[in-house]
Amino acid sequence: MDDEHFPEGARLGVLTTEPLGRVLDYLAPPGGCGTGDFVEVPLGPRRVLGVVWGPGDGQFDAARLRPVARVLDCAPMRDELRQFLTRAGEYTLTPLPQMLRLATRAPGLGAPPSLRRIYRLGPDQPARMTDARARVLAVLRDYGGLAFTLSELAEAAGVTPSVIHGLVKAGAVAEEEAPRDLPYPRLHPDLPGKPLAADQAEAAAALCAAVASGRYGTTLLKGVTGSGKTEVYLEAVAETLRRGRQALVLLPEIALTAEFLNRVEARFGARPAEWHSGATVTERRRLWRMVGEGGAQLVVGARSALFLPYRDLGLVVVDEEHDTSYKQDEGVLYNARDMAVLRASLCGAQVVLASATPSLESWANAEAGKYARLTLGARFGSATLPEMRAIDMRDVGLPGDRWISPELATAAKARIAVGEQVLFFLNRRGYAPVTICRACGHQIGCDDCDARMVEHRFQKRLVCHQCGASKPVPQACPACGVEGRLAPVGPGVERLAEETAALFPDARVAVLSSDLFGSARALKAQIEAIAEGGADIIIGTQLVAKGHNFPLLTLVGVIDADLGLQGSDLRAAERTFQLMRQVAGRAGRAERSGLALLQTYQPEHPVIRAILGGDEEAFWRAEAELRRAAGVPPFGRMAGVILSSTDLQEVFTFAEALARQDGPLRAIGAQVFGPAPAPIARVRGRHRVRLLIKAEKAAPLQAAITRWLSPFKVPNGVRLAVDIDPQTF
Ligand code: ADP
Ligand code: ZN
Repeated sequence: MDDEHFPEGARLGVLTTEPLGRVLDYLAPPGGCGTGDFVEVPLGPRRVLGVVWGPGDGQFDAARLRPVARVLDCAPMRDELRQFLTRAGEYTLTPLPQMLRLATRAPGLGAPPSLRRIYRLGPDQPARMTDARARVLAVLRDYGGLAFTLSELAEAAGVTPSVIHGLVKAGAVAEEEAPRDLPYPRLHPDLPGKPLAADQAEAAAALCAAVASGRYGTTLLKGVTGSGKTEVYLEAVAETLRRGRQALVLLPEIALTAEFLNRVEARFGARPAEWHSGATVTERRRLWRMVGEGGAQLVVGARSALFLPYRDLGLVVVDEEHDTSYKQDEGVLYNARDMAVLRASLCGAQVVLASATPSLESWANAEAGKYARLTLGARFGSATLPEMRAIDMRDVGLPGDRWISPELATAAKARIAVGEQVLFFLNRRGYAPVTICRACGHQIGCDDCDARMVEHRFQKRLVCHQCGASKPVPQACPACGVEGRLAPVGPGVERLAEETAALFPDARVAVLSSDLFGSARALKAQIEAIAEGGADIIIGTQLVAKGHNFPLLTLVGVIDADLGLQGSDLRAAERTFQLMRQVAGRAGRAERSGLALLQTYQPEHPVIRAILGGDEEAFWRAEAELRRAAGVPPFGRMAGVILSSTDLQEVFTFAEALARQDGPLRAIGAQVFGPAPAPIARVRGRHRVRLLIKAEKAAPLQAAITRWLSPFKVPNGVRLAVDIDPQTF
């Protein structure tokens, strides 16, 4: 894809975000345009957003072509991003227009940057000084050089706009017209960082050298939670900024962002640009433009930040790289970790995959020498990894509505008595996972999905965790009509909170579960309050397993360590191992030593033993052997074809037809399994069935799938999605 300039009237190809599936021919507008330019083109009666993709393919008579309507005033899409969209689309079998949509998710891109008034410190001192005026000047001085809008400044200083107008008249505040999209405050990579421990310094030096090479490379940065990985990769960020290139840090969870932004500010003297779905339209548009112009040096964000039009991306950090939320499960089905590696390889950037418990994929790539490996040994400072012990629940004999063993309760009391914090971990939202009728045995399920309804007592409703449908808890059993015999079975965090309150009447209990917070902001406030000691006992779902710092936390009680081991998912062992290690890593992060107690009914299970024994390499090797023997990822390739319809019969029949005519797949030695109900078998009234395809590592899987599927006409009402590298298999 060579960049090319098209003079007025020349034929060129434009890729639009419209689902036509191909590049359309147009004529260059007056003044011409170049490859990569963002343009608006007429399509039927509308104007749509597009990108000049290359020369036109000459399908249509030039006389019938229409000219490009407008070239947008923003940095063109670079060759590297065009290649990335193309390759990522080929990999995930996604048509290009849909890929382009991922890269243009900044509403209002077409609008020219309008001007607005901004305010900075002026040259003069006002003759008359009041408290309010002094506050305005102090704010402007504190933020040296940063410009404010009128309302931002008025709010920051706690004054009315008239105070600011007065200062403008007096020459103490300067008023200017500026484009609305302001660059982000500059980060200063050379401010002193924390002095690094020896192993940190060594790892940081290796990453900086990799960044300095200006070439692509991937490094797996492994180290237990609290070993100082973040400190280390911030040095790689610093090196990237020094070289004038841009850095991207992907975080799996919005709730983690606040703490991270503070750390960046402490290290570089300013806050980075933040990209997430909750951002306002103006914010997104600003970030999108600034990333292209280089006015955003560091972006912190969710997986979709990978598709922004960076001017010169030099580093991508994927923090908690094993996290399953990096896999997008709607729309384009991609794994941000893998796509980060792809993009970096196209733009000569370094990738850092950071984790205490890497995915088996990354572990295997490091073993095979494809990724470099850096390991941080101990925890930073005096903090040590928590001691881990199993509590054999078979001996305990708790009644059916209680889950905290006496041993765990005693340990918790002792910690609370000395002002330390305790975490009870249970990866189940709501009050009770099952509501059963004691008269007929019926379990209340969702009307639209193959899932049981989960009681949420704070909301006083039954909720389906698959589709979100909810209804009030009924008085009578919907099956047999008997009243007053519906009973909750099993624990969720809300129910555990009840038991905790009864066992520890004087303790302050905080429940951390994503559904209990209306907004990311409320959740963040709660996490900060807990970190500062605002609770004695934290009850939490996997939300707490992800990297928050609770310095006072010294005891983790895992209420049901067996939870993730059930089910037929081949990744279950890996998931449980990761989750338990992460949770246990919450204890004893500062100077206090930690203890993790795992309540289990199967203490001799190999995964539980690996968690307790701490011989991780042995666990990975054993897991790797199982997967190698089964020929599944990362040692073989898999893809899922998910078909859904409201009509189960129809979708099954179509899936069977696909499975029968699998010539192109057999030609590359691949096998088709199924159709079988998909891992989520019914969602929002649609039945989902899945075909699983398994192939050798080197097989050209995508091309074969395309050849296989293209002769079929998907029946109306049936949806088809291909999932390369499915999460469950
Ligand atoms: P990880 O990312 O591996 O979980 P962090 O980088 O978050 O570890 O470090 C854990 C804690 O130790 C943090 O509170 C961090 O500020 C602190 N820390 C890490 N390295 C240093 C250092 N060299 N000097 C001072 N504090 C450090
Ligand atoms: Zn449902």
